[in-house]
Amino acid sequence: MRTKLVAVVVGALVAIAGTAGAQGNSAAAPGKAAAGAKAPAAAKGKTEVTWWGHAAFVVRTPGGAVIAIDPWLTNPKAPQGVAQPEALDAILLTHGHFDHVGEAKALAQKTGAKVFGSFELINLLGLPEAQAVGANTGGTFKVKDATIHLVEAVHSSSYAADPKAPAQYAGAPLGYVVAIDNGPTLYHAGDTAAFESMALIATQFKPTVAMLPIGGHFTMGPAEAAQAARVLKVQTVVPMHYGTFPLLQGNPDALRGELKKLRGPAKVMDLEAGKATAL
Ligand SMILES: [Zn+2]
Repeated sequence: MRTKLVAVVVGALVAIAGTAGAQGNSAAAPGKAAAGAKAPAAAKGKTEVTWWGHAAFVVRTPGGAVIAIDPWLTNPKAPQGVAQPEALDAILLTHGHFDHVGEAKALAQKTGAKVFGSFELINLLGLPEAQAVGANTGGTFKVKDATIHLVEAVHSSSYAADPKAPAQYAGAPLGYVVAIDNGPTLYHAGDTAAFESMALIATQFKPTVAMLPIGGHFTMGPAEAAQAARVLKVQTVVPMHYGTFPLLQGNPDALRGELKKLRGPAKVMDLEAGKATAL
């Protein structure tokens, strides 16, 4: 009861402060304006995510960072007639398979973006030194207003510059957490099965939106992805890595059904390829 009362009082104070902040900008002293401006600042810019089909995304942050993840922009489900990004600050590669490296090299050349990935994969790509960020799980990097954490994925990783040549070992596969100042914290799981230490990702980084593979065969399918969403404690799941090839059978409706069975809070947001969506 006492806790409840305190919560009510605190809630009322927060509401009053919010009103003062919203109304008092012109009258407030500079110091007060800064405090009052806190909420509007969060709403000022938005984070926009464009799914490019398969595991490819382009993220635009309020602070102007443009980040491509696994940019296979010519995949069979890629949007038609949508211009590829002209400017990129960073390209994040989860692992070396062709359906994830995609056009990373050409995009890096065109935009000058830094390319993040496992130490081994980045070495194999042969990028200019200034753009090559070979790293590993546990690493954290800042790109404008985005903080990028490299996390575990349960998969394999190899890379073949020439598809006819044998593939070479490309280090451990990765997932990425992209925490955006005054914006969402995105978790792109890469290609992975569900794994128990997704709970640690949840504790450490508190992702709000998870891009999860649901196609099955090479990654988790809808049932495992629903379990992953539960462990990650996310409100929103953006399904990916499905429908690109006949082998990838999972689909968003199956994921919805599995989430319903678990009675968790997560909702499925299936993005239309090529359409920028505010998160
Ligand atoms: Zn894949």
